[in-house]
Amino acid sequence: MTKGFTIDFTGQTIIVTGGNRGIGYELSRGVATAGANVAIIYKSSKDADSVAEKIAKEFGVKSKAYQADVSKADIVTKVFKQIDEELGPVTGLVANAGVSVVKPATELTEEDFNFVYGVNVLGVFNTATAAAKLWTARQSKGSIVINSSMSSQIINQAGENIPLTQVFYNSSKAAVSSVAKGLAAEWAPHGIRVNTLSPGYVNTDQTSHMDPKLRTYQAANIPLRRFAEPQEMVGQTVLLLSDYASYMTGGEYFVDGGQLVW
Ligand code: NAP
Repeated sequence: MTKGFTIDFTGQTIIVTGGNRGIGYELSRGVATAGANVAIIYKSSKDADSVAEKIAKEFGVKSKAYQADVSKADIVTKVFKQIDEELGPVTGLVANAGVSVVKPATELTEEDFNFVYGVNVLGVFNTATAAAKLWTARQSKGSIVINSSMSSQIINQAGENIPLTQVFYNSSKAAVSSVAKGLAAEWAPHGIRVNTLSPGYVNTDQTSHMDPKLRTYQAANIPLRRFAEPQEMVGQTVLLLSDYASYMTGGEYFVDGGQLVW
């Protein structure tokens, strides 16, 4: 008898938005480790093609980068069809791409709102519905993991009782965690599961610009006393994509070093 658990996505295709860098890059590598073909969606990075080629070589899977702005529904629908044809039937989506604008609320603009919500809420919605349309058309099941944030629940601090000034980011994450629950309820009859991965602070470009004093303050206030590495987001994501999570839908899973216990 074989001992242990194995997650094997061989022959499946998983789309990772923002899969070329940061957390998304490790999630792309994570699903490729389990044998999936990986479609990376990016917006403007110059090295996405070479990232996909590297993953293909390292894991012996098909991997290709597709340039698409997730906030544009028609482009997303077209690209998802292309991926399905080129890499093989799409079985999973990791809606990971996300952006932030850090400014005091009194300086935030309508343009900032449209930028943040366009990616973090509408972009997730566009990619999730594009995947669901593929699956319902051929009556196949599918799994969607949305990368939200612990910011869906808390207002992060920049110091004792001093909030981080990212009202649009935090509220967009609360919104997208609710979108996930709504889609999970709507699509459960079709065998489409939708769950949320909600990370705490992770060492990526999004957090590297932070003042070192602020990073030290924040790390000291996390029960595990450090930021996560992007690889630490892989286990939960791969689990949610797999059949081991067949009874899990509509959940929000915090991978936050215990931050939410306070
Ligand atoms: P990151 O390093 O800043 O990377 C963002 C990724 O999103 C890039 O691949 C970028 O593509 C892509 N992207 C941005 N706008 C896009 C658009 N309109 N269309 C398509 N792709 C787009 O981000 P990260 O820190 O890894 O974060 C990934 C996710 O985790 C985000 O949703 C973020 O909110 C969430 N999160 C991060 C942290 C953290 O501490 N880092 C904590 C909690 C949650 P290009 O490379 O082409 O620009």
